[in-house]
Amino acid sequence: MINERINQLLDYGLKNNFLQQDDVFYAQNRILKLLHLTTFKRLDDLPEIAFSNLIDDFIDFAIETGVLTSKTISTKDAFEAQIVDCLLPRPSELSRIFYTHYKTGPKTATTFFHNLSVATNYIKTERNKLNVRYKYQGKYAPLDITINLSKPEKDPMDIILKRDENDQYPACALCMENVGLYQTETLAPRSNHRVISLTLDHEKDQWGMQYSPYAYFDEHLIVLRKEHSPMYVNSKTFHELIDFINKFPHYLIGSNAGLPIVGGSILNHHHFQGGKYDFPIEKAQVLALFKRKGLKIEILDWPMAAIKIIGNNENKILDMASQIFTDWQKYSNESINIFAHTKEDHNTVTPIVKLDGADYNFYMIFRNNYTNDEFPYGMYHPNPSRFHIKKENIGLIEAMGMAILPGRLLTELDMIKQVIKDKLSINDFPELKKHQEWIDSIKDLELDDWDSFLKNEVGRIFEGVLEDCNVFKYGSNQDFIDFVNKAIY
Ligand SMILES: [Zn+2]
Repeated sequence: MINERINQLLDYGLKNNFLQQDDVFYAQNRILKLLHLTTFKRLDDLPEIAFSNLIDDFIDFAIETGVLTSKTISTKDAFEAQIVDCLLPRPSELSRIFYTHYKTGPKTATTFFHNLSVATNYIKTERNKLNVRYKYQGKYAPLDITINLSKPEKDPMDIILKRDENDQYPACALCMENVGLYQTETLAPRSNHRVISLTLDHEKDQWGMQYSPYAYFDEHLIVLRKEHSPMYVNSKTFHELIDFINKFPHYLIGSNAGLPIVGGSILNHHHFQGGKYDFPIEKAQVLALFKRKGLKIEILDWPMAAIKIIGNNENKILDMASQIFTDWQKYSNESINIFAHTKEDHNTVTPIVKLDGADYNFYMIFRNNYTNDEFPYGMYHPNPSRFHIKKENIGLIEAMGMAILPGRLLTELDMIKQVIKDKLSINDFPELKKHQEWIDSIKDLELDDWDSFLKNEVGRIFEGVLEDCNVFKYGSNQDFIDFVNKAIY
């Protein structure tokens, strides 16, 4: 049986363009080594089998024969990645193929790389389908709510060894050292990991691009600086983002803020996120419109303080974005609790760029990471009263209107429904304790459809979370408009 499966995998690789005919012998011999086999017969005309079934059979074989001694999800994932790696081009070869496609067009190149990432299950398409997604229609443009069930929970069998941070190899999950890495105790398997080399802002081949295995939206990608160095947001970042869009005009790209609390989860490695998706913020209504220097500047009706700069001249866009950013970095208004600087700087932005026809749409979401005794997590961070739904930092994706909520929430919503309908005591459900206040506020309602109601409530609370992060929440829209009006001269 395994002989057939190896044949079928080789055929699958050839058909899906990640294995070249000239590399078949090389690939089959690497698979034999991996499976501790010494003989092989190439067969023709075998029926096609789905990739996931093929991999399952390889893993079963490896477990039966003792090649694989652990059965945890992450061990299986690591083994799958290793099998796929036997067929994949080396990183430099893959970059070369990518740029051959790029000569036809950027979209041809990214389609090739994306298809390869799907066909090899680098992008966990089947697991990503488990995510629960719906729209919430609230006070602003409809928000995207995602309950994330795709990332496997850590198996307790996978022992996490505590290691000295300085010795950590690779230094983080975004480092180039992950390319071809079998597995570590803390990082996902990366044998089949490939990064396409990029030049951005005249820094030749200093950048890389990969797709995200756990994609939250279509063609969710990560652009990273090859060097492990901290995130920064400044006018250089804006140049890098615009340059990416010039090279890949069919994508959106954005950066998390470079400061703690208001940034993403990885601050120590400069990177962007992008993809092919229309985010809720793009449908936001306009509160006020200014025209300056051949550009349009829209103040958006959005739960966080956000603007859109529109124009077809990239230098004008960059000048305007830098000018507004510089003003924002200095902007303090004590009467409405905006402090640009205490012991350190607090003001920054989340920048996002997308093309709309010939026009650049440059979004800037204003951020501030000031903390005090009352708000140790941050004054412009989710309010503690909403931690039961969202406690983590509000990063780029969420600031654009897509909630990424923990998978546990789905089970908890079911339990909440049961507790309310059957009038059970919440004390018997320790995991619902954090939802107590919320449950008390809704438990006396008479409803037929609790499922829809609870999902809607989650959306409403997430909308509140975004409003918590609005840097002008202690002032008014007019304060925000006044700031922008002054900054754009
Ligand atoms: Zn790194």
